[in-house]
Formats: sequence, C-alpha cells, structure tokens
Amino acid sequence: MPLYEYKCADCGAVFDTFRSFKEADDPIPCKTCRGVHTRRLLSRVFASVDGRAVSGSSSGGCSGCSGGSCAGCGGH
Ligand SMILES: [Zn+2]
Repeated sequence: MPLYEYKCADCGAVFDTFRSFKEADDPIPCKTCRGVHTRRLLSRVFASVDGRAVSGSSSGGCSGCSGGSCAGCGGH
C-alpha cells in the first residue's frame, strides 16, 4: 500500500498514512486537530530517494552509503 502525505490547513500539521490508491484523494481527518481541511502532498519519500540518486548531493558518498566511509566508495 502506498504512503501518502497530507497537510492540514487548520493547524499546519503534516502527517503521512498508508492508504490504498483509490482512497488517496478521499478526505482524511487531521491526526493532530481532527480538522477535515487536509490536502494530499506529493510523497516526500519518493522525492528524497530520487534527489539523492540524481544529484549525488553532500560529500561524495556512493549509493551504498550516506557520505561516510564505506567499502563501496573506497572510504575517505
Ligand atoms: Zn490539523
């Protein structure tokens, strides 16, 4: 089941929840204030994975590590 992220317009809270695809755009009450003025955001989970793969960001780690030393990129 995919993970969806929602933002509450009432209190500003962002929360995520697992829902089936057909439920993704159904209204969901805020987990913080129980308000119903929530809207779905694009999944930050997939976005961050793509960002790291494409940009290679930070300090030159390989795809197998997060920038520290590892066998995959020869260490530092
Ligand atoms: Zn709220």
